[in-house]
Amino acid sequence: GTQVEWKEFEKSKVYMADLESGLHYLLRVELATHRTLEGEELKTFKDFVTVVAKLFPGRQSVVKLLETLLEWLVSLPLEKIPYDAILDLVNNKMRISGLYLSEQVQWVGCQGSSVALRGYPCSLWTLFHVLTVQAANRPDALANTGFEDDPLAVLQTMRRYIGTFFGCQECGKHFEEMAQESLNQVKSVDDAVLWLWRKHNQVNARLTGSMSEDPMFPKTQWPTPDLCPTCHEEQEGLHVWNEQMVLAFLKQHYGASNISPKHSS
Ligand code: FAD
Repeated sequence: GTQVEWKEFEKSKVYMADLESGLHYLLRVELATHRTLEGEELKTFKDFVTVVAKLFPGRQSVVKLLETLLEWLVSLPLEKIPYDAILDLVNNKMRISGLYLSEQVQWVGCQGSSVALRGYPCSLWTLFHVLTVQAANRPDALANTGFEDDPLAVLQTMRRYIGTFFGCQECGKHFEEMAQESLNQVKSVDDAVLWLWRKHNQVNARLTGSMSEDPMFPKTQWPTPDLCPTCHEEQEGLHVWNEQMVLAFLKQHYGASNISPKHSS
């Protein structure tokens, strides 16, 4: 088999290579299992592309590609879009104009100790954390999309994407249960950032010791004290989160200026 070289990385950084590899996998592998998109599926995909095109803090060539894909989806009068047409646009039409999403999968912060571990699901969490933070940092970015002033824009889009397209159906079911339980408590873009953090920690807790845990990357309640000491407090001998500190940490960690271009092809 192919030996993949281990790439050094810092836990305190987010890697563009993970985000771009995730988008590549989403557009060219995950979506490919749907021959045609129509109805709710098509709407879910359009909304996903809208949110990513407007909020993804990526390289110009990739953001342009997403914007072109969005314009094309919005301008098409079709009620049904064959997946091959989307793939053709992503692969060929774009390359002519220099808009290009690498087909090389390059996991960095999402590397696993075996190919079956981490990778894509890790990049998807990372992407959605980045998007909730972008929505909070750039309140005007979703103007004229139908999502303006909607603090739930990213989370609802994520919920529908996960439920419709994410290959792990059990994950989709769990995520839907969490959304039904408490998504209605989210009243601001800051709440949205914290909601996703809280739910991700719930998933981490549930998966401790499970098959999907990479022994080299044990599930933890995140951020650990070494990453954010002020996020942790003790009240009457019990651990509590300082959520104001957590929010500030998430905005820094998942903010555009903490995304490293290292190892991006
Ligand atoms: P991940 O959990 O993928 O996290 C990626 C990175 O995010 C971590 O390395 C860390 O830097 C950061 N991080 C960790 N916790 C937080 C947090 N609370 N807030 C912000 N950032 C954080 N697998 C199952 O087996 N069963 C499921 O039901 C399931 N549900 C899922 C639901 C969703 C929506 C997604 C995207 C994935 C789900 N998965 C599920 C996959 C699982 O959660 C992990 O993605 C996978 O096991 C890989 O784990 P990981 O070690 O790379 O860390």
